[in-house]
Formats: sequence, C-alpha cells, structure tokens
Amino acid sequence: MPDEVKLDKTEFVKEDSRQLRGTIADELAEGELDHFSKDNAGLLKHHGLYQQDNRDARKQKNEDGTRLGKAFMFMVRTRIPGGRVPADALLTELDLCERYGNQTLRITSRQGLQLHGIIKDNLQETIREINQTQLTTFGACGDIERNVMCCPAPLRHDPVHDQLQQTADAIAEELKPRTTAYSEIWLEDEDGNRENVTEFTPVDEPIYGARYLPRKFKSGVALPEDNCVDILTYDLGLLGIVENGGLVGFNVFVGGGQGVTPSAAKTFPTIAQKMAFVGVDEAVDVARALVCVFRDHGNRSDRKTARLKYLLANWGMERFKGTVEEYLGRAMAEPHPADVTGVEDHLGWNAQGDGRDFLGIYVENGRIQDTETDRTKSALRKVVETFRMPTRMTAQQNILLCDIESSQRDEIDRILADHGVVPAEDRSRIRRLSMACPALPTCGLSITESERVMPGILDQLESELSRQGLADEQITIHMTGCPNGCARPYSPDIGLVGKTVGKYTLFLGGNSLGSRLAYNFRDLVPLEEIVPTLSPVLACFREERLNGEAFGDFCDRKGRDELLAALGPIDDGE
Ligand code: SF4
Repeated sequence: MPDEVKLDKTEFVKEDSRQLRGTIADELAEGELDHFSKDNAGLLKHHGLYQQDNRDARKQKNEDGTRLGKAFMFMVRTRIPGGRVPADALLTELDLCERYGNQTLRITSRQGLQLHGIIKDNLQETIREINQTQLTTFGACGDIERNVMCCPAPLRHDPVHDQLQQTADAIAEELKPRTTAYSEIWLEDEDGNRENVTEFTPVDEPIYGARYLPRKFKSGVALPEDNCVDILTYDLGLLGIVENGGLVGFNVFVGGGQGVTPSAAKTFPTIAQKMAFVGVDEAVDVARALVCVFRDHGNRSDRKTARLKYLLANWGMERFKGTVEEYLGRAMAEPHPADVTGVEDHLGWNAQGDGRDFLGIYVENGRIQDTETDRTKSALRKVVETFRMPTRMTAQQNILLCDIESSQRDEIDRILADHGVVPAEDRSRIRRLSMACPALPTCGLSITESERVMPGILDQLESELSRQGLADEQITIHMTGCPNGCARPYSPDIGLVGKTVGKYTLFLGGNSLGSRLAYNFRDLVPLEEIVPTLSPVLACFREERLNGEAFGDFCDRKGRDELLAALGPIDDGE
C-alpha cells in the first residue's frame, strides 16, 4: 500500500502491539478495572475475545438515580476447524459456561463455540482450561484468517470427506499467526507460572507481517451437492471436485462477504465468484497467495471497505486473478463447470458408512441451554459423559454426535426424550433451516433483537405455512440484529436485518444453496408485521409458482416490483 495513504488508526495499534501483545498482560494483572483499554480490546479480538457489556443492564440505576454504568463482560470464542470437538472439550466448555459464563454455550454460525458473560477476572482460567483440551481461542476473531470451515458430516466410508477436512486443517495451520503472544499472556508453564511477559522477542511472522491483515479473512471447504458450510459467503470458498470417487481438486471461489455498514452506501454483500480450478495439493498455496494479496493490497485506510470483496470489485476478476497468480508463481487452470447444487442439514439419525451412526441434534439458534421445557444442555452433557463420543458443530449452529454404535441408540434417544429434546424429524422444515445471531443483550453493535425474537417469528410462520398448505416447503430464514450479517441474512430465501429499533429490512429471493443474493423487498418492517408482510407473498407463491418451484426461486423470478404489483397496494410505512 502506498505510504502516502492515511492509514486507519487500527493499523498503528496492531503495528505497535509487539505482535498482538499490547499491554494486555499489564491490564490483566490490574485487578481494579473490569475492562481493557480500547486499543487492547481491539487486540484481544485476535486472542478470540470480545469485550462487551450487558446492554439490558445499561438502563439500570443506583438508588440515587444515577446510571449503574456498563457491566463489562467478555465473549470467548473457540476456533475449531471443521467444528470438530472431542467429548472432553465439549464437557469443558459446558463446565465453563456454568462456572464463569451465563449458563449457556453458543454454537456459532462458523462452527465455533462461544462463551458469553465471562468477567475479566475469569478470562485467564477460562482460556487455560480450553487450551488444556487441545482447542484454542487464538485466531477466532481479529484481522487474521478466521476459523476454516468444512462439512462436518462424519461419513467414514467416504475418503473425500477426510480429504476436505485435511485441506481445512492444512489451511488453518498454514495461516495461523506465529506470534507467541497468546501463550505468553494466557497460558501457564508446567510450574503454574505465566511465561515472562516483560521480555519481548519477536518471531518471524511470514504471512502477516507487523500489521496483520487489513481485516478478517474467512474460508470454507465444501462439495457441490452439500454446501452446508455456505462457502460462497466467504473470502475464499473451495468447492471439491470429485471424479471416479476421488477428490481431484477444487474450484476456487473468492470475494464473498455478508457484512454491510449502514452508514456507508459503498458497502455491500456479495456472493463469491468462481476464479479457478486447482489441484488438491495446491489448495494451501492458493489460500496463502490470496491472503498475501489481501495483506498487501487490501484497504488499510478505511475498515468499512477493507474486505477482500472490495479489492475484487475494484480490480475486476482478470486483474485479481493475475495478481494471485503472480504471488503463487504460476498460472491457475480455468474453473471446472461444477457449481453448488445442494445443501444438507445433517440432522436426525444418519449412517456413517462404517456400521456406526451419527445423530444431528437441532439447537435453537445454536444456544445450548436448559429451559423449562427443553433441557438440551443437560441432555448433551449426560449423553456425552456416558458415551464419550466425538462431536461436531454445523454451520447452521447445530451439533452432531458421532461414532454411535447401534446398541447405544435407544439409550441416547431415551436421554434426549427425558430432557424434552424434540427430535429433528419432528421439527418443522423452516425451523430446522433457521438461524439468528446473538444481537441483544450481548452484542455491542446490535440495533434490534434477533435470537430472542426468532422463536416467536417461527411459531407464527409455522402456523401461516400450515394454514396455506406450505409446511413441507424448504424455506430458509436467517435473522440478524444489524447489517453486519453474522447469521448470513443476505443469501437465504428470507432474510431479516435489524435496521432501526424494532424494525427490520426484509430480504427475499435468495436460496437455501447460498448461491444467490436476496433483494431488499421491504424496509422498516416492524417486528410484529414481519409474518403479516410475508403472508400475502406466500399466498402468491402458492397460487403462481411454477411446477416444483422453490420459494426463493419464485421470489427471484418475480422480482421486487412484480411481486409488489401482484400483492396490490401496501401501506409500507416507509
Ligand atoms: Fe451483532 Fe450485528 Fe453480528 Fe448480530 S449481525 S451478532 S447484531 S454484529
């Protein structure tokens, strides 16, 4: 990047941070304060931590009428390539959410795990215990390669799935930062002491350099018939090409991204574009080349437009691909004709192909918790404690219990039923495919509710779909509390994005494959008007769909104007 460009101040914070140390260790030792300085809070993201406050508590007052002030707490995100979590690691995370968190454990939309409500005094112990299970929070957030996603289905008879995971693991290993800041700050040595944090010895950081990336970089690996990890919404998506039962390479998709900044019209969501075909053993090299192109040419003066998708939009594919090839040192082949054709949710009982089964359990909005009627948290603990099976997180925020012997199935079903866990096959299709981001009260950026109101919206939608005879339709709905799009709301059949307090932008026309952007159908829809707004669209779909046409395809074919015209006059309240 030319020197004369004015860098965003975040760049200086990273550059001066002594490889992501900042003064985190000093502030950690400072017991008086319950939070970190702004600069350190930014650096903490690279360590997997978000400094947040309980926004429900902001309005609370002292007896004298003054505000209580922010109740600081931290979100601790574990980075898990392919979402693979051994039994002891899941049990540890469940223990930690009880002991230090808000008694819930959240499966993220990118196959990670999140603890919420951890106070500063408990951060170190929390991170230490997670690392003892061989998982890490390092690299779960921040301006680096994030969690590398991969189809989690444990199809043991199929070597292709193992190769996908090996590719994801290899990319994660290659692109992890080399700084030793994380272990120095958070982990104890064998004598129970933290390593000496006062002496700084820089290590070679060959990929990231001193400033790390301009912003985050996301990757995922999938197969055409099962894009369950939604690879077209990431900076890098690798679509496995299988011939004669063997993986021969990947179609490389680049420049996807869901985030939008409301105040910046220059920001937009995108679906990744097909760039090239590469062999299996080239995938890591291509991922590294892409990250290095982004490092050197991404926008470091404006974080709003710092993602790879804006570089691709500015350059165009020809220049972009040529530059990646320069970094790679060789030309890449033209893409294979294959595209995304299907998506699976992997829920319910499924055969692994090795005589054992796996069970996909639906977790509402990924929030593992106990409620009065559904004690999924206790059920999972009991099942995993009893059978010690490995688990995997899905990109739809659900959990797979793996390697189950047929003799164990009845007992597992009984434990789940005893805890009120509804089998996935008894869930409606729309609920199985729904997602909502955390939003209020923990996310500092949320404008509206999301996770807390989604179950109510689904209740209404289920009734409406049944009433119209559409209950069996495959319709995906994703909701977020702000335009940042963490639950990927710009590509499903129905997207709901928090716009202003209590009101949402309603997107239609995406699809469950994640291969098409939805369009803005109505803006500023009040929460209570969401389902009444969708109701006539569903009726129109029922009457005018082509044979076998899916809801998203119908909305895309009609387009916003024709759909609105078909519905007749609407008081849109805009
Ligand atoms: Fe927070 Fe917005 Fe992400 Fe939801 S989409 S978790 S409100 S930043």
